[in-house]
Amino acid sequence: MKIFEEMGRYGFEQVVFANDEASGLRAIIAIHDTTLGPALGGCRMWPYPSEEEAIVDALRLARGMTYKNAAAGLDFGGGKSVIIGDPRKDKSEALFRAFGRFVDTLGGRYLTAEDVGVSVEDMEIVHTETDHVLGLSAAAGSSGDPSPVTAFGVVRGMKACALEVFGSDSLKDRTVVVQGAGHVGYNVVRYLTEEGAKVYVTDIYEDRVKKAADDFGAKPVAPDKVFDIECDVFCPCALGAVINDETLPKLKCKIVAGAANNQLKEERHGDALEDMGILYAPDYIINAGGVINVADEFYGYNRERALRKAAGIYENVLRVIGIAKRERIPTYKAAAWLAEERIAKLGRIHKVYVPA
Ligand code: NAD
Repeated sequence: MKIFEEMGRYGFEQVVFANDEASGLRAIIAIHDTTLGPALGGCRMWPYPSEEEAIVDALRLARGMTYKNAAAGLDFGGGKSVIIGDPRKDKSEALFRAFGRFVDTLGGRYLTAEDVGVSVEDMEIVHTETDHVLGLSAAAGSSGDPSPVTAFGVVRGMKACALEVFGSDSLKDRTVVVQGAGHVGYNVVRYLTEEGAKVYVTDIYEDRVKKAADDFGAKPVAPDKVFDIECDVFCPCALGAVINDETLPKLKCKIVAGAANNQLKEERHGDALEDMGILYAPDYIINAGGVINVADEFYGYNRERALRKAAGIYENVLRVIGIAKRERIPTYKAAAWLAEERIAKLGRIHKVYVPA
């Protein structure tokens, strides 16, 4: 892999390779863009089959955070880190302390947090070596589980989509199919039933479906029957790549709006949704509640303020729809436009002070 070529293609600022023989730490910290502020993005631990796959993942995720943070109106850039290792076997205090020391050498240019394979407890260990970590336990005065705030933002974004498609943002009596009743999906079901929507819910774990059904009166659906239901909104809250060549012809909805990351398997599937007349709420716009919540810790966490900012996802979705209509582009492209415009504007301001 030609690393500088790859960095140049997408404008990466810095990639740090961290190696600690004593603990066995091998980590990559990728900083994509710090125009808007320090790079914020979680730390993932995964048994990558090759170093190249670890680098590619770190770069892809870091760049994704730039767009997510910028489009959410946060004063943070994009970054991400990956630790090469099996989270079930290779974790140790020494490993996370070593990781914390490397994060600290960056002097706050990169702020880390938990991600796949890394827990709040692991981040508490990282915190013994550096202050540049967010998303610690609620007991430590921080923001806690982001999922309810993510769910709140998703439903706000869904209401904005309803306004565009139905002329009213009320979700009362609208039929919504929620795929995935995990941390976010369960809370989405809760908010939707509060709004008076007719909610169907599915999960590969029956107990999760049962809980959402028992607690909120949602109707259970088998995972493989999820596309059989005629609905107003399909709400993906499980895995990524759910909009693909197989699922597209089966969709019976007017809106796709949910929490899952990377919902479009490929960009062309976003074009296909547009052609089918289905409004797509771009994932990183509508699921930004979690990062909005954790980012608030930087200013001394305040739950009300975090929720107020997450409520702004409503306006942000309308903004994206507005750009899409004005520029005659699909919404996923409009979302990228929104993020790039914000960075470019501030980028120009920064450049004024750069000596010739
Ligand atoms: P989770 O693991 O708690 O929940 C996901 C649920 O989806 C699980 O219950 C799982 O059994 C279910 N599932 C998996 N495959 C399925 C299938 N084929 N059909 C039906 N259900 C299936 O995760 P989460 O924290 O709720 O996150 C959900 C999605 O939202 C993920 O894509 C995540 O990346 C994204 N997201 C989460 C947050 C957050 O705050 N947690 C923020 C932004 C984005």
